[in-house]
Parts: sequence; structure tokens; C-alpha cells
Amino acid sequence: MSEQPRVEIYTKTQCPYCDKAKDLFDSKGIEYETYNVTGDDELFEEMVERADGRKTAPEVFIDDELIGGWDETSALEETGELDEKLGLVTDGGSETEHRKLIIAGTGIAGLTAAIYAGRGDNQPLVIEGDEPGGQLTLTTDVANYPGFPEGISGPELVNNMKEQAKQFGAELKNGIIESVDADQRPFRVELTNGDVYTTDALIAASGASARTLGIPGEDELMGYGLSTCATCDGAFFRDEDMLVVGGGDAAMEEATFLTKFADTVYIAHRREEFRAEQYWIDRVHEKVEDGEIEIMKNTEITEIHGSQEEGVDHVTLVENEQGHPTDRLDDPETNEFEFDVGAVFFAIGHTPNTDYLEGTGVTMDDEGYLRTQGGDGGGQTETDVPGIFGAGDVVDYHYQQAVTAAGMGSKAALDADEYLEDLERAESSAETEAAAADD
Ligand SMILES: Cc1cc2nc3c(=O)[nH]c(=O)nc-3n(C[C@H](O)[C@H](O)[C@H](O)COP(=O)(O)OP(=O)(O)OC[C@H]3O[C@@H](n4cnc5c(N)ncnc54)[C@H](O)[C@@H]3O)c2cc1C
Repeated sequence: MSEQPRVEIYTKTQCPYCDKAKDLFDSKGIEYETYNVTGDDELFEEMVERADGRKTAPEVFIDDELIGGWDETSALEETGELDEKLGLVTDGGSETEHRKLIIAGTGIAGLTAAIYAGRGDNQPLVIEGDEPGGQLTLTTDVANYPGFPEGISGPELVNNMKEQAKQFGAELKNGIIESVDADQRPFRVELTNGDVYTTDALIAASGASARTLGIPGEDELMGYGLSTCATCDGAFFRDEDMLVVGGGDAAMEEATFLTKFADTVYIAHRREEFRAEQYWIDRVHEKVEDGEIEIMKNTEITEIHGSQEEGVDHVTLVENEQGHPTDRLDDPETNEFEFDVGAVFFAIGHTPNTDYLEGTGVTMDDEGYLRTQGGDGGGQTETDVPGIFGAGDVVDYHYQQAVTAAGMGSKAALDADEYLEDLERAESSAETEAAAADD
């Protein structure tokens, strides 16, 4: 390799996206310098200045050029431009490589599938996608995963699973699957960086991505006071009032977490009832009693105001006691008001990552979640394309838990193993018949 460019990463403590950025450069064998801005005001100011006013970590620089945060870095990785900037591109293009089994995703479902498939001697190739380690890397406190009575941090659990998968022969690779051609056997799997594989079977464990609202101010302020990850960015807005938007588990957990830093955390939820588990509702109500959280029910956010220089200044909210106020903007009972907060966190659910399976014939529901066989007995993770299996949050829009994703990952690997054995048997008996016909 020619001389490596200088890579610098501003990080903070307890920052899953910083870990993802470091993991990405590690996986490429690229050396980098890190500057931890936690508790160092001078370094933080330096980061903000070099990053054109952005107040979120990580901030990545290559040869003094601002690349940006994790989103921008992984977008460059997706197109192959990151390798170009790092001088990793070689001439000549790559050969198509055949793999017995490809797993899309290194979340809990994909990694569990990789552990089982590795042990089943199917040498899986596991593609990391744009969120290596999946959603669980965004939480510092996993208290309900069996086997860890003291709890475990999401990144630690994921890293343990990666190690376990590698021990059994799984190969993990950075990259994002762009398309799967299921009209040909073996399937043709193309990555966004141009790499192409063929594979006999595919486990789609590609999870789901955080949703945004598309309201005014969102694009401009994402990373400047607006975030979809409280554990990543909460500490940047110490002593500010913070608004969490949502009413499910993630919203409750994020609001509870943010009380460590916020003056007051406000939760805006568009309905009267929360969708979250009772455990999280109880924890939030404890914080309400302590005066650390205030709940605004039947309330929605319609605009975020501020600037990239100064961050979020205030938001516009609408409220109607019948719920879903943005559906009732003409109702005289709908009350619109401005509300001062220094940071906004969206926790409004996820969209399944299934674009790459379009055109394969795999059935999806209206939101894009994969439909699998389900039911009793074997083959529960089969899609209606033989050889393509689905596991985890990309299928399961209801439970969406680490342990349920792990369970489905193991089932998908066992189903794929059975499929691959049948395929091998069919191929060898076809060869035997062909040889007999030649005699
Ligand atoms: C903040 C937060 C806290 C949570 N806390 C808990 C908790 O305490 N306990 C609990 O049980 N659950 C928790 N959850 C839920 C849990 O994280 C998920 O249910 C679980 O991670 C789902 O795992 P998964 O493997 O199905 O999908 P994900 O974790 O979403 O992983 C999907 C993987 O697929 C990859 N991918 C996507 N598209 C492609 C593509 N085109 N090509 C290749 N790869 C692709 C992604 O990069 C990623 O690696 C939490 C979730 C969040 C967001």
C-alpha cells in the first residue's frame, strides 16, 4: 500500500458511533489518532471549529479534510470513496467469489445466525451493513439479555458475539448489500462498493433503521442539536432542557438516560397511551415524580428552530386532547405553541432494511417487513424464495428485542443448514445420475 493518509477521529466516552468509526478503520488496517473530547472543553471547541460547527461525535478527518460523522463516513464507505481516500483501491477489479452462505447484517440476529452457521460448517460470510453491530450498539445498558445478571453494554455484547462467530469460522466483512438477483442460482449478491458474490443461501438479518419525521429544521439541525441516539449525543447538551419524541420502549429508555444530563427531559407523544413495556413506563413515572421528566401527551412536533452555529433554540408543538394533533390542525381545539429546548431526540420507531431484496420475489408487508413461513416445526424462517431466510427485526415488527432476534437468528441458520444439505444431496444425486448416463 502507498503511504497511508493521516486519519484523525474526535471521539467521546460512551459513544457507539465513535466505536463504529474506529471499528471501520480497524477492519481496513488503517491507523488513526483519536481525541476524546469528553470533559475537555478546549478540545471540544477545537472539534466544533474544525467540523464547521457540528457538535456531535465522532468527527472524522482524512488528511485534514472533514469527512464528518458516522453517517457521512459510512456513506463514503458505501460508495467505495472511503477506500479511494485511504489509498486502498487496487486496479483490476475483483473476481466474483462464491460462498455457501451469506448473512446480511451483524446485529444480534445476524451474529447468532453466524455462530450457528459457523458451527454447522457453512463458513458464512457476514456483511456488516451501514450499522455494524446493529441497533444494540446504541445502548449502554442491556439489562434483559439472559445470562448477564449485572446487565451488559450493547457494544460489549455485540463484540463478544462477533468473537464467538469468528471462532467458529464466520468471516465478517464491511460492506452493504445493494441487490440480490434471485433469478439465477447460485444467487448473485452485489455490494454498493461494486464487490460481487454468488451464494447458495442468504439469511436476511438486516434489521431496521431509526425513523425521522421530515419536518422543517430536521435536515439542517440533524447533528446540531437534533439526534436519533440519546446515548451518543446526550452528554453534549448538559444542563439543557431536552425533548424526546416518541412513546415506545426506545423513547422511554432514552428519556430516562437523558435525565443524567438534562435540566428537564420532556417527552412529546402523539397519543394518550404509551406503547412501551410497563417496566419502562414505571421508570419514567418515577422520574416524573422526581421532577426530572415531564410528559406531554397528545402532542406532536411540527418544526425545529435553530442554526448550525447555535444549535436547537426551540420547537413548535401542537396539542389536541383527542390525540394525533397533526391530523387535526384545522380543529379549533388544536393548540400550537413554541417550546424552548436545547436538544431534540427522535425515538419514533424504525424502517426495515429490505430495499436490497426488492425484485427477488420475497414477500414483504406494506412497511417492508419480510414475511416468513412462521408457525410450528422446521422452516419457520423461510421466505417464499427457497434459499432466502429472514431473521430478527427485519421480520419481527412486534417483539423487536435482542433475545427474540437471537432466537430467530439461530432458527434461520438451522433452516439454512437443512436447505444447504438438501441442495448438496440433490446436486450429488444429479451428478451420480449424469455419470451413470455417461457409462
Ligand atoms: C436505543 C436502543 C436500545 C435498545 N435496548 C434493548 C434492550 O435493552 N434489550 C433488548 O432486548 N433490545 C433492545 N433494543 C432492541 C434491539 O436492539 C433490537 O431488537 C435488535 O438489535 C435487533 O437485532 P437485529 O439483528 O434483528 O437487527 P439490527 O440490530 O437492526 O441489525 C441489523 C444489521 O443489518 C445490517 N444491514 C442493514 N442493511 C443492510 C444491507 N443492505 N446489507 C448488509 N447489512 C445490512 C446493519 O448494518 C446491522 O448490522 C434496543 C434498541 C435500541 C435502538
